[in-house]
Amino acid sequence: MRCPLLFRFRVIDRLPEPPSPVALRGTLVHSVLERLFDLPRGERSQAAALALLPQAYADLQVKDPRLPQMMADGVVEETEWLAEANELVKAYFTLEDPTRLIPEARELLVEAPLENGLLLRGYIDRLEVAPSTGQVRITDYKTGKSPAPQYQGEVLFQLRFYALAIWRTRGVIPAVVQLLYLGNRDIVHNEPTQGDLERTELKVLNIWDGITDMARRADFPPVKGPLCGWCSFQAQCPLFGGTPPPLPADGAAAIGIADVTGEVTGDVTGDGSGVTGDGSNVTGDGSL
Ligand code: SF4
Repeated sequence: MRCPLLFRFRVIDRLPEPPSPVALRGTLVHSVLERLFDLPRGERSQAAALALLPQAYADLQVKDPRLPQMMADGVVEETEWLAEANELVKAYFTLEDPTRLIPEARELLVEAPLENGLLLRGYIDRLEVAPSTGQVRITDYKTGKSPAPQYQGEVLFQLRFYALAIWRTRGVIPAVVQLLYLGNRDIVHNEPTQGDLERTELKVLNIWDGITDMARRADFPPVKGPLCGWCSFQAQCPLFGGTPPPLPADGAAAIGIADVTGEVTGDVTGDGSGVTGDGSNVTGDGSL
């Protein structure tokens, strides 16, 4: 939606990107919040959450060896980085009381095929279902700050994208979809209607049409914007004096376009790419 060339570099060329300390910190905080709900309800205190941090950190170091390497190289100052993660975990408790929540799922993989075969796929951080009414609430954590007013529309689209994926997989329109911004202790929420979700689906399909058109024309134009500040590919971007590598011969196949005559199957993954002050949501952390 922001820059077709960036999409191409990431999804079609699959160019490697350097690890982002901010994104890794987000992964750590997500891991702590996921583990928090393993505890009995009455034990989900702030102190208990902070006590989960060392093990989550140790596990992340094993899972992603780039992290200890960044520490060793001095790219990241460990004490400061962990202190920031600590503050984000504390911030969570100013937004919600986890002792009142009974999640049905955490880190829920959702795969929702649309009518044309396009597959929406992503992860939802947390999902609750009200026992009495069956109402669904979706929660996603953001470790950055809530967006400036000019990006509110994009956030709304993201919220409804989550709701659409649930509607198409469970047949239930979520009553509430919310983003918890730990960076500035803010909540953005939405109560989508069926009309909202139908319009969102149309928009997703239009985006996909745009992608397939660009793939067939082998032309993904760069679009300068706030993302450029955090883009790993300025050296390959014509707007910054770079030259893109040739488009891979199997580029269309890489995004699931079987042929140039029609049938479309693919995979659109929402990556939470709202731009925030510290760029923590720019890279996408695998959450829907
Ligand atoms: S530098 Fe900006 S315009 Fe160029 S690919 Fe990255 S996001 Fe797009």
